[in-house]
Amino acid sequence: MTDSQGLFEFADLPEWEQAAAEDIQVAEVVFNLPLEKPYTYSIPDSLRELLKTGMRIKAPLGRGNRSVIGYCVKIRQAESGLRKLKPIMEVLDAEPLLDDVMLTLTHWIAERYLCGWGQVLESVIPAGVKRRSGTRLVQSLTLSAEAETLIATAKLPAKQQTIVDVLRKATGPVPATRLCELADCGPGPVNTLRKKGIIAAIRIRSEVTGELMGSSEPIEDLIMNSQQQNTLDAIVSALESGEHRTLLLHGATGSGKTEVYIRAIREVVSYGRQAIVLVPEISLTPQTIRRFRSRFKSVAVLHSHMTDSERHWQWRQIARGSIEVIVGARSAVFAPTPNLGLIVIDEEHEPTFKQDSTPRYHAREVARHRCMQEKVPLLLGSATPTLESWLRAVRKQDTLLSMPDRVAELPLPPVLIVDTRNDPRIGKGSSIGRALFTAIGKALADKGQVILFLNLRGYSPTVWCRTCGSGVKCPDCDITLTWHRDRQEAVCHSCDYHIPAPENCPVCESPSVRYFGTGTQKLEEEVGTLYPKARVLRMDSDSMKKPGSHDEALEKFRHGEVDILLGTQMIAKGLDFPNVTLVGVIDADSMLNQPDMRAAERTFQLVAQVAGRTGRSSRGGRVLVQTTSPEDPSVVYASKHDFLGFASHELHQRKDSGAPPFSSVTRVIFRGLSEPQVNDTARTIADKLRKMAKEVDPDVRILGAAPAPITRLRGYYRFHLQIAAPTQERVKIVWQRVENTLTLPEGVEMAVDVDPINSR
Ligand code: ADP
Ligand code: ZN
Ligand code: ZN
Repeated sequence: MTDSQGLFEFADLPEWEQAAAEDIQVAEVVFNLPLEKPYTYSIPDSLRELLKTGMRIKAPLGRGNRSVIGYCVKIRQAESGLRKLKPIMEVLDAEPLLDDVMLTLTHWIAERYLCGWGQVLESVIPAGVKRRSGTRLVQSLTLSAEAETLIATAKLPAKQQTIVDVLRKATGPVPATRLCELADCGPGPVNTLRKKGIIAAIRIRSEVTGELMGSSEPIEDLIMNSQQQNTLDAIVSALESGEHRTLLLHGATGSGKTEVYIRAIREVVSYGRQAIVLVPEISLTPQTIRRFRSRFKSVAVLHSHMTDSERHWQWRQIARGSIEVIVGARSAVFAPTPNLGLIVIDEEHEPTFKQDSTPRYHAREVARHRCMQEKVPLLLGSATPTLESWLRAVRKQDTLLSMPDRVAELPLPPVLIVDTRNDPRIGKGSSIGRALFTAIGKALADKGQVILFLNLRGYSPTVWCRTCGSGVKCPDCDITLTWHRDRQEAVCHSCDYHIPAPENCPVCESPSVRYFGTGTQKLEEEVGTLYPKARVLRMDSDSMKKPGSHDEALEKFRHGEVDILLGTQMIAKGLDFPNVTLVGVIDADSMLNQPDMRAAERTFQLVAQVAGRTGRSSRGGRVLVQTTSPEDPSVVYASKHDFLGFASHELHQRKDSGAPPFSSVTRVIFRGLSEPQVNDTARTIADKLRKMAKEVDPDVRILGAAPAPITRLRGYYRFHLQIAAPTQERVKIVWQRVENTLTLPEGVEMAVDVDPINSR
C-alpha cells in the first residue's frame, strides 16, 4: 500500500523492510516566510545523490501543494514511527550556496531578530548568486563514443575531416562557435557530422570571468608610533590566541586607526586567512579603499552598483579563498570566506550598520556572532563608539584599546560654540552668523580650505505658513515638505511626493507661505553671494547620485580645486584633508530636536566627527558650532572632544530611564490603509502582551500602542508598540507566546524590529 505521495508507510512494510526504512533520510526545508521551524520532506531516490544541505529545492507547500522554492537546511534520519511526508520535487543547485557556518549564522539571526530563517537566507544570498548570473550553458561538441569506428568505415569530405582532427587534438568539449573558428568552416559540416553520429553535443556550464579591481599604486608602510604599535600588539595577541574576543578600538579622529587595521590584516593574511572590513557606506570611503588596495594583493570591494554577474563572480572568488581582504557595507558580513581570520568594523557607531527591512539585523551583532562561531577576533573602531559597545567595554565583556592622541603630535582642533540666539546676521535670515562669517573670510584669505556641515538637504527644509504657523505636509506622510529650489518643487523626503511649491497656505489660505530654514542648496547660494571668489562644492545625496561622483568631488577638494565644501552627514565621515583649517557646523539644534532616544548621542557623534575633519596638519584648524542650545551637554562635550565625559553623562541618563543599553527594546510596527483597523489591531495586541507579561514576567514593560512618529507613510497608517525588558531573551519569551496566538486581520501588516535604532 502506498500513500498519495507514493511513500510507504512504515507500518505497511514487512518487518525486514522496516529496519531499512529507519535509515531513510529526510530533508528539512525553510521557505521565505516569517516562520522559525523548518518543514520536513522526503527525498525521492532520484534526488538522493544530488541533494546536499545549503541547496535550493522545489517542494509542494500549503493546501494547494503549490511548488515553492525553499532552502534545504538539514538532511537527517527519518524518525521511526509513522511518517507521511511530501517529497521534494526538484533540486535547483549543483553546489550548495551556503556552508554550515553560514547556515548556523543565519539561523541565529532568525532567532535573534525574530524573523523566518528562510527570510534571512533569501536576503543574504545575492540575487546574482541565486541566478548564477554570468555563467551560462554553452553548446559544446566532442567526438562520440562510436566516432572512431564510424570514421574507419567512411571516407569523410575534407571539411569534416578537419573538424574531426580539431576535436581529436582538443583536451575537452569545444564550444560550437569556437569549433567553427578552429576548423574554418560554417555550421553545415558540423551538423552533418552530428547526424552521422560521429560527434556529440553536450551543454557545459562556462564562467564569465570578472576582473578584480586593479590594485592601486603600492604604498610603503608608515612607521607606526608607539600608540599604534601597542594597539597592534594587543590585536595580534588576540589573533594568536585562537579564541574569539571583541576588541573596541577607541581612537581619536586622525589617530591612525586605518593603519592599525591594515597591519592587523597583514598578520591575518600571513596565516593564510581572509579578513572582512565593514565600512558605513562604500561610496563615501574612496580614500580608505585606495589604502587597502595599495597594501594587499587581492581586495574585493562589494559595491551596491555591481552587476549580478560581477557579484556572483566575486562571491565565487571569495568562496575559493582567492581574496585576502573584502571591503564592503553591512552585507559584506556574509562574505563566504572559507578561512576567516578577522572582521573589522570601521566607524562602528554609524546607523547604516543596522538593516532597515527584514531581516532587521545589526551587522555588528552578526559579526560578533560569526567571529564567536569561527573563533576569531572582532575589531570595532570609532572615535565616538555607540553606548552599547562602550558599556560592554567598560564592563570588561569586551577589550578596550585606546588611541587618544592624533598621529604626529597634532592636537585636536579647538571648538568654539557660537550662541546664535541674538546674532544679528541670523536674525536677518542668514544661516551664517557673525562669528562664522568672519572666520570663513579669514580662512579663505589664508588660503585654507573650509568645510560647512549641515544636517539637512534641500533648498529650504520646511515649507510653512507665517500666518497660521503650520507646515505644509505631505498628504501621505506626516512630514513637512522640503522646498527644492532647482526643481521648483516641494518634496516629501519620505515617499518622494512632490508638488509645485504652493503659493497659498493649504490650511488658512493666506498667501504668506515661506520657505523657512536652511538647506544645502540655500546655503550654497548664500555662500556664493558672500564669497563670490570662492570655489564652492556641494555634497549631499541629491548632488551625488551618480556612482563615482563622491570620489570625483573629494579628489577635486584634495587637489585644492575647491575652497569651500559644504554638505550633509556625508562629509562628516572619515575624510582626511590636511589643508582644511576651518569647519563650521551651521545648526547643531536640527539634530538635537529629533524625536529619538538617541538624539543626544547622534548630536555628539556628528559634531565630534565633523570637528575631526580639521587640524590634520601643522597648519592647524578650528571648529565653529552654531546653536541655540549652547549649554546642551552633547554639544559641550563634543566641543571638548570629551567622549568619556559624554558617555558617562549619557549612560547615567539612560540608566535612570531604563533605556538601552540597560534594557532591550523590541518595536512592533503595524500598518494598513484603514486607520481604525490598524489602531485597533495594535491596541489589542498591546493589551494581550501586557496580560502575558503580568503572568510570565512582570519586568517586561509594554509601551503603547500609539501612533508612530510618522503616522502616515506612503499612504499607510502606522501604529507601533514597544516591548522593553532587562534582556532581549525576556522580551522574546513574552512576545513569542503572544505571537503564536496571533492572526492579523486582512489588510494589516506587522513588522518586528529588535534593537530598533530609528523610531520613525
Ligand atoms: P583615523 O582612521 O584614526 O581617523 P587615519 O588612519 O586616517 O586615522 O590616519 C590619519 C592620517 O595620519 C592619515 O593621513 C595617515 O596616513 C596618517 N598616519 C597614520 N599613521 C601614521 C604614522 N604612524 N605616521 C605618519 N602618518 C600616519
Ligand atoms: Zn510622503
Ligand atoms: Zn496658514
